[in-house]
Amino acid sequence: INPQEFIKQHVRTVPDWPQAGIQFRDITPLLQDPQVFRVLIDIFLERYASANLQYVAGLDARGFILGSVIAYELNLGFIPIRKKGKLPFHTIAEEYDLEYGNATVELHTDACKAGDRVLLVDDLIATGGTMIAGKKLLERLGATVVEAAVIVDLPELGGSQLIRDAGLEVFKVCD
Ligand code: 5GP
Repeated sequence: INPQEFIKQHVRTVPDWPQAGIQFRDITPLLQDPQVFRVLIDIFLERYASANLQYVAGLDARGFILGSVIAYELNLGFIPIRKKGKLPFHTIAEEYDLEYGNATVELHTDACKAGDRVLLVDDLIATGGTMIAGKKLLERLGATVVEAAVIVDLPELGGSQLIRDAGLEVFKVCD
């Protein structure tokens, strides 16, 4: 069994959460078992060890769990991209559409600078809106977003294609 298949087996699908009709992919079993957690993180470390990065940026909130471990292990800084109203210093914001309503993510204006190479990390891509908003924030500071990395890409929603169409490569562990 390859590492990708091993990880996929430890993603739990919870029916009808947070609302009827949604099949929520729960990644907590990946974090709970230290052997599984290590296999997961090692997939990202291997891919990005020689990527010549300055930072890993994680999307609120599960992107923080993955992104901070990857950053620490690769000796990089970690940048949190947070939901509206959480960051205390000067911020820039990007609003994006959800199925119902909209959401806003924010970034500190001094989080990185022009020319920095940044890996953008989250747990999952659904519609792709969150990743694209994160990319826009980092690029507004002049950074180069090297890749969008996730555990799970839900391909039927077309999110990763939208991200690629926006000019950002996507790396997923499984679908
Ligand atoms: P998108 O912006 O691509 O539509 O949604 C992705 C964002 O919503 C990610 O930040 C992700 O954490 C969260 N999300 C949406 N659906 C799921 C899901 O089924 N499982 C998990 N773990 N996160 C989800």
